[in-house]
Amino acid sequence: MPNTTQKLYYSHNNVLLEKIDDGYRIPKFFAAPAWLKKPQITHPLGMHEGAAIDVVEVTGPKDVPHPYTWVALRPALEALYPQLFNLLVRAHQILSWDKNHRYCGHCGVETKVNGSGFERQCASCHLLFYPRISPSIIVAIHKDNQILLARKANFLPNVYGLIAGFVEVGESLEETVHREVSEEVGLQVKNVQYVDSQPWPFPDSLMIAFTADYAGGEIELRDGELEAAAWYTADNFPGLPSSSISISRKLIDDFIGKHR
Ligand SMILES: [Zn+2]
Repeated sequence: MPNTTQKLYYSHNNVLLEKIDDGYRIPKFFAAPAWLKKPQITHPLGMHEGAAIDVVEVTGPKDVPHPYTWVALRPALEALYPQLFNLLVRAHQILSWDKNHRYCGHCGVETKVNGSGFERQCASCHLLFYPRISPSIIVAIHKDNQILLARKANFLPNVYGLIAGFVEVGESLEETVHREVSEEVGLQVKNVQYVDSQPWPFPDSLMIAFTADYAGGEIELRDGELEAAAWYTADNFPGLPSSSISISRKLIDDFIGKHR
């Protein structure tokens, strides 16, 4: 019987894509082409365009025949956004989870994949390990017709973004918003409203996006994470987030749409 499961190949954090006129697409491989090296890890990713799809980790080769090419995750996500964004994120995070949970954190014995799900289990103490997702908040703070934009020292020149941070244990998302805003810029906010969410594989986040209204305080860079933060109107913007696919950019574009 022919193999009807499509394969998405990964090697050293690069995705195998097919070059087409206006960008890239996932090649339609149902069996490994002869020039690919032996598969190391295979995981089912679910359904894609009506067919089952697996992610397969291989070790190369570095050079592949035209029109195929290895593309690093970030540019691959940019090129395949939004249709294949979540699929690539899932593939990437499943592979890193699989590689990073080979041994039990409790007793040190080797773990094994359980069934076909995203689950590894310790052969000795039976502890289960699932892919890790780290929730993070990102918030667009509005003050009349202005938005708070900020930059970290490691951002590319002229790139600005929004206040963001990881959810801590025992915290609600709204509490994280209030804490991060207070810690990073010393402001109080109100009317915290959920907008959207996006998986983000750098390294394993789920970004949960909010808007909030300014409620008090003066901008004060408190914890050293930011090198600049200020209020901007839509016609007076510094540089925007470098990635047009990020949820940060969507929140800023929403603000511009409303105020320009
Ligand atoms: Zn164990």
